[in-house]
Amino acid sequence: MKPIQMVDLKGQYEKIKTEIDNGIQSVIESSTFVKGGMVTTFQQNLEQYLGVKHVIPVGNGTDALQIALMALGLQPGDEVITPTFTFIATAEVVALLGLTPIFVDVEPDTFCMSVESVKKAITPKTKTIVPVHLFGQNANMEAILQIAKEHNLYVVEDACQSIGAEYTFSNGQKVKSGCMGHIGCTSFFPSKNLGCFGDGGAIFTNDDALAQEMQCIANHGMTVHYHHDKIGVNSRLDSIQAAILDVKLRYLDTYISARQTAAHYYDVAFANQPNIAIPTRNSKSTHVFHQYTLKLRSSIDRNAVQEQLKTLGIPTMVYYPIPLHLQKAYRNERYKKVDFPNAEMLSKTVLSLPMHTELDEEQLEYITENLCNLLQ
Ligand SMILES: *Cc1c(COP(=O)(O)O)cnc(C)c1O
Repeated sequence: MKPIQMVDLKGQYEKIKTEIDNGIQSVIESSTFVKGGMVTTFQQNLEQYLGVKHVIPVGNGTDALQIALMALGLQPGDEVITPTFTFIATAEVVALLGLTPIFVDVEPDTFCMSVESVKKAITPKTKTIVPVHLFGQNANMEAILQIAKEHNLYVVEDACQSIGAEYTFSNGQKVKSGCMGHIGCTSFFPSKNLGCFGDGGAIFTNDDALAQEMQCIANHGMTVHYHHDKIGVNSRLDSIQAAILDVKLRYLDTYISARQTAAHYYDVAFANQPNIAIPTRNSKSTHVFHQYTLKLRSSIDRNAVQEQLKTLGIPTMVYYPIPLHLQKAYRNERYKKVDFPNAEMLSKTVLSLPMHTELDEEQLEYITENLCNLLQ
């Protein structure tokens, strides 16, 4: 059996080595390493894949979120609602810009932002909602967009884990993750579903004015050379990463199916295991399984399970062990008045299993049999 890894980037690369190597080589030959034609080609191919008007490639997913918020003209003290159960970057950029992150709880089944909690968190200072499509499944976007409309709020989607996931609205319209709100953000970090060989990210929008604004901010606040109309940042995707991503984009749907096949194997194997709750699907969204995250019964010693699996050569991870409202840098008197029972329960019970495009049946059988045996 091949050794089991959380993510097998080498195995994935070996299957498309020639195409990737040729892509990298052609960038080197062209010597256009920044803002070259390759970046534009990838940008256009991604626009087409997503069915979105504008893709703005940037340096990473965190920058994408930051630039999106910078473009909305928010004032210090304005409130931005984010789930408390997510990767830190979602709230970090809010705090960094002098805005106030307002954490809300998540649904105990889908792990995404709780719509009821969002409703309760809205104040006159609320300006933006940042739903996170956690682990590869879209949040309850129809309801979130409806609330945003009622309260005149922006919606910035954190689609760093969900590229390619599709959401079906009640009128039948299908929209790709990150393309439903005013702005969507994604990351091309190597382990993400569409990952490059370093850092990368992108912003999506159908709004021409916002697109122009964000392009300007990402480029030192400049539209005409050396005229700086606003304070910006330097955030760009380099041409070598764009060449790699352009090849991998062609395989994205195949990669998504491989992840779904592995997830299905896990689901079936754990169906009758009383100590495991398999990930719940949102009926309106496809799931692209950035992570396969199950819940262990709360009486199970998760650390011990992880340790035992580790000795068997089965890596696991806990995404995320501490909700953001309990993180040292983000603790605030204000959050003490609110309860986050679901996020706190999840942080203690979730367990993510190996999930990538190269898992084979032998590995899946080994993982599931061993985990089931441990939990007998
Ligand atoms: C990965 C990730 C980010 C940040 O992306 P980087 O490219 O690492 O900056 C933000 N939000 C979520 C939910 C992520 O998973």
